[in-house]
Amino acid sequence: MDHDEIMARVEELIAVGETAPRVALDEVNLPMIRHWAEAMGDTNPRWESVAPPAMAQVWTMYGLDPHRPAGDPLHATMRLLDDAGYTSVLGTDCDQTYARHLVPGERPAITTRLESVVGPKQTGVGEGYFVTTQNTWWVAEEAVATMTFRVLKFKPTARVDPTQTVRPVVNRDTAFFFEGTAMGELRIQKCNACGVLRHPPGPVCPECHAMDRGHVVASGNGTVFSFLVHHAPQVPGKQLPLPLALIELAEGVRMVGAVRSPDGAALAIDAPVHVVFDRIDDDLTLASWETGPGRRVRTDEGSEEGVEINSDLPPVSLPITPTLIVSAALATRDFQDVHHDRDLAVQRGSKDIFLNILTTTGLVQKYVADWADHEGRPDARVTACALRLGAPAHPGDTLELTGTIASGSDTEIVVDVIGTVSSGTHVTARVTVQP
Ligand code: ZN
Repeated sequence: MDHDEIMARVEELIAVGETAPRVALDEVNLPMIRHWAEAMGDTNPRWESVAPPAMAQVWTMYGLDPHRPAGDPLHATMRLLDDAGYTSVLGTDCDQTYARHLVPGERPAITTRLESVVGPKQTGVGEGYFVTTQNTWWVAEEAVATMTFRVLKFKPTARVDPTQTVRPVVNRDTAFFFEGTAMGELRIQKCNACGVLRHPPGPVCPECHAMDRGHVVASGNGTVFSFLVHHAPQVPGKQLPLPLALIELAEGVRMVGAVRSPDGAALAIDAPVHVVFDRIDDDLTLASWETGPGRRVRTDEGSEEGVEINSDLPPVSLPITPTLIVSAALATRDFQDVHHDRDLAVQRGSKDIFLNILTTTGLVQKYVADWADHEGRPDARVTACALRLGAPAHPGDTLELTGTIASGSDTEIVVDVIGTVSSGTHVTARVTVQP
């Protein structure tokens, strides 16, 4: 099936418009809420009487049974793209609004329409199509929540083969750099005598000729100073075409690196990029770049040049365990194998199982709600959550959450949340709270 055939079928599915309401498998109920709260580590006592807003989607998730009713446009699009070879799926964007809390005994229904299918795009995980649906949840005639949901349906590219990777020379001048990447730090060499930063690293300061070498930890944010797209010849361990850029770091030095574009956007001069870390094996982690702004949480606290964590909310470090990933996937009624079966996750192009988007949604909202509670606003209610996923959260990693207050009034507080993992930004979210 070629692109034109895919898009012709997509046009038909879009023309179907909104589906008839599909009623949730179960009423809103306390046992499912308890399972969800336990999996998320959410001990807020209010969930003993109402459902967390982040559970809106949970009620109308399908069960483990793979059969789907005819007429679900998202499912029809998934099958269409499966047939065309785009067999893997990732949730990328989830933009929800909540009119009120759902209460036990209510049985919501969902209506869905396919909004758009855009592609094929070259992304960080492979070539794929972005599929966007609009969803509304209803209790009788009342719209209780809405969601714009975007997934990437893609052909996974082969994972990095360590035996195919060109290994950099690690010596006395560069060892500090690769010791940093292994820890999720982007380090810049610094002259301890005069303080000048320099890259690439070398033995002697070009300014004062001192040989006293130190380093600072960069924020990991930069902009594209210049770039090219490498088409030939083949580079071992790399997919072509390979965008390469000269990155101007926020700290003022420039570095050359490969740039991935998770959302398929083309590279441009001055475009913001942030560092990500590709663990090749136990001995080597490489730094590369992704388009879009990011903010590294890990900073050089011992140095005057260290970048401050700009967080109005207390940062939270959350260990990502297999138990969290699996129990939260099941508590959100998400039976996709990539969230519980490592072998199948690897087969589908991932390095391990990973957190599902409903869990990230729950953890981000819990982070903001816990903060509001701590600020003396125990009745604060999340009214909206717009969330974009980036780097996956795998077992053994740590999710570092920070939050800044974008705006605040008596009726509405808007908090921007960033969650990072060792390989980059896992989630950026804007959470709106009614205080
Ligand atoms: Zn110097």
